[in-house]
Amino acid sequence: MQDEQNEYSGAATMEKITSLAKRRGFVFQSSEIYGGQNGAWDYGPLGIALKNRIAQAWWKEMTQLNDDIVGLDAAILMHPRVWEASGHVENFTDPLVDCKKCKARFRADQIPAEKLAAKKCPECGGDLTDVRKFNLMFKTNIGPAEDSASVIYLRPETAQGIYVNYKNIIQSNRMKIPFGIAQIGKAFRNEIVTKNFIFRTCEFEQMEMQFFVKPGDDERWFDEWRRRRWAYYEKLGVRMDRLRWHRHGPDELAHYAKDAYDIEYLFPMGWRELEGVHNRTNYDLSRHSQFSGKDLQYIEQETNERYIPFIIETSAGLTRSLLMMLCDAYDEEKVPSEKKSGSSAGTASGTEGSADDDWRTVLRFPPAVAPLTVAVLPLMKKDGLAELALDIRAELRDDFAADYDQAGAIGRRYRRQDEAGTPFCVTVDYQTKDDQTVTLRYRDSMEQVRVPRQALTEKIRADIKAWKR
Ligand code: ATP
Repeated sequence: MQDEQNEYSGAATMEKITSLAKRRGFVFQSSEIYGGQNGAWDYGPLGIALKNRIAQAWWKEMTQLNDDIVGLDAAILMHPRVWEASGHVENFTDPLVDCKKCKARFRADQIPAEKLAAKKCPECGGDLTDVRKFNLMFKTNIGPAEDSASVIYLRPETAQGIYVNYKNIIQSNRMKIPFGIAQIGKAFRNEIVTKNFIFRTCEFEQMEMQFFVKPGDDERWFDEWRRRRWAYYEKLGVRMDRLRWHRHGPDELAHYAKDAYDIEYLFPMGWRELEGVHNRTNYDLSRHSQFSGKDLQYIEQETNERYIPFIIETSAGLTRSLLMMLCDAYDEEKVPSEKKSGSSAGTASGTEGSADDDWRTVLRFPPAVAPLTVAVLPLMKKDGLAELALDIRAELRDDFAADYDQAGAIGRRYRRQDEAGTPFCVTVDYQTKDDQTVTLRYRDSMEQVRVPRQALTEKIRADIKAWKR
């Protein structure tokens, strides 16, 4: 664990993020009315929109912008031999210890070495049990009999679905090495420590791309994928001073890896892994070849050379990326009262201010991933303004995720959109009736400009492209 000094200087805390996420319908606890289910979360209307946007951005980057990467959606349930071949049955374990006194459970690799050596609980000082290995795979049974022959696993990573389809994809799509296969999907791990909101959960989503290369070309492609993955976050609009590389030391390397780097993000609780870039060598395909009895060698058409490809993997968490986006976007600031504001705006949660203070909580999502792109707000409901605003919204919703809100004072409605991270508000007022112009209000600067109604779609499109943090 890299739990060195937390250099985090943002406004977000995990408590604020969790409470905003619930209040605004990003993320709810699973089965909340029954007291909640540990390690599982539900994504509400804004949450699923944000998750889809992040997934789309990744998918576009991987498949649409690369000729040599194709997509796949493999089943969650796979033949149990897959997990023997991959090494998960034997090796996918966490070292666990329990406190005999307070009954707390820890991952042995996450408690201070001196406590572990002394076998003392880091929380109450009680005696710890011996370290034991705990397999993280969820095991269930398929079919009516619950015996060892019917055992099946929920996949703990999406990668293996790609490996077992590598020959199918070469044959059906005439792929030539080097090429990649991208997949987004659910993965399941029986995680013991699931604190920090959706950071580490038992059910989560991964965005993985496996790139197949000729042995010997692997180091070059490994460097290239590290470069591309870093560039991706920059392009997405993430605060780059909150990202860093962490190279796995010899004791951290997974059983299949020749080299591995994590991209870490500075979450409110410290630097934590966001994505892994791994050189998995020819381990996976060799093992599948051995366990399935199928020849998984690649044949170079020009030279007839045969080899088992090496694999460079980029493995990012989708749900973890969503948490990263929330933390990255979260801001609180004291702001001047806005024009058109009929009443004073709300006070940012958790912030004590005097009666005159105007605080706002704002999620500064890059517009390309914001769950809502634009909100249309009539200044008043009466005098035909609501109808006019609905008409404008109808025009916009073909191109953008466009919300409509007529409830309450305009300043308060701006604050609601700020909190949802909506980058643009369009306000429809009496002047709109006269000259068909609207006010376009920017979330980040709170600047307002007058725009002709017919120019609105193009203006918003251009502003999305031009957005910089
Ligand atoms: P850790 O060592 O922290 O358990 P890992 O190194 O095993 O994680 P990988 O197997 O490399 O993680 O998974 C790739 C990515 O999948 C991670 O970078 C992370 O974004 C995501 N991920 C892994 N486990 C979880 C989880 N339990 N909950 C949410 N996301 C996860």
